[in-house]
Amino acid sequence: MKTITGRFFWIFTLLVFAFAVQVRADSTVLLDDSLRQLGLRESALRKGDPAKSERFTGNGVPDIYAEKNVPYLEIGGIKVFLSRSVDVYRDNLTITGTDYQKVLVPLLWRSNALPKGVRRIVIDPGHGGKDVGKICNRTEYTEKSATLDTAFRLKNLLEKRGFEIILTRKEDVFVDLDDRAAMANRVKADLFISVHYNSSRPGDTTSSGIETYCLTPKGQLSTNKAKAKADVTAEPGNRMDYFNVQLAWSVQRQLINNTGAEDRGVRRARFAVLRPLNCPGILIEGGFMSSKEEGAKIANPAYRQKLAEAIAAGITDYNQRFRVGP
Ligand SMILES: [Zn+2]
Repeated sequence: MKTITGRFFWIFTLLVFAFAVQVRADSTVLLDDSLRQLGLRESALRKGDPAKSERFTGNGVPDIYAEKNVPYLEIGGIKVFLSRSVDVYRDNLTITGTDYQKVLVPLLWRSNALPKGVRRIVIDPGHGGKDVGKICNRTEYTEKSATLDTAFRLKNLLEKRGFEIILTRKEDVFVDLDDRAAMANRVKADLFISVHYNSSRPGDTTSSGIETYCLTPKGQLSTNKAKAKADVTAEPGNRMDYFNVQLAWSVQRQLINNTGAEDRGVRRARFAVLRPLNCPGILIEGGFMSSKEEGAKIANPAYRQKLAEAIAAGITDYNQRFRVGP
């Protein structure tokens, strides 16, 4: 009896210790100090309350704008969601150590960690067949049609730029989520781009904007709070954390700058199509089919062409800025 109690005591102690280590592992860092290390300096604010917000600039890197209690940083004018909102410690803004490593370092530090040059890209048109996806109420245009059309437009543009393109589906057929990522791994893709369109809750016809997702780093919270759960499992796709956020930011930036759509940010999720990937990957939500205005735009081929052009430009930015090789 004594031994069993003793064993429980030790197991309990170990659990408490493990929890404490876990919590401490996500330490807090001062934004000012960490950005200084990356070569940026605090500069005068153009907006916001000086007691609660800070702006940083540097040579050849995007500007940063941070605000207390806000769940994202604006990096080069694009929202990048953090695993925890910006906080304050003795009048200084803070973020978590993991957000420093997983967001700021990849986007701001010109390191030697370069991806291989991109040649083969797998484009994944979301949904298909019995899985219709979202439906635009007014035009009855379906997400599965919109994603397939956008994917073909993107394929044409990227092929003209010399990339080899493989689609996870070329027609209106159902493809299992696992098979989409497996296909990218099987053909040894250098990038995986999943295209989707969004929808809001019934009755909401005004929410709009574009968001780009990449895989949530190990132990971090995903962006959409309703489903948020810290997961300590490292997925195969987490080996690409460094490049995933670079790809997501490059594409989101071009999408927002070229369409004028609302920037809903670079977000994190553990999507089934992103978890098993052996290459950098993102999932784009190219706008709200439920929105009166944006839904009508998505149903217009000229707008989908614009979206495809922006995605292609983002991929080119990623490839040129971060590549080695040809
Ligand atoms: Zn979808």
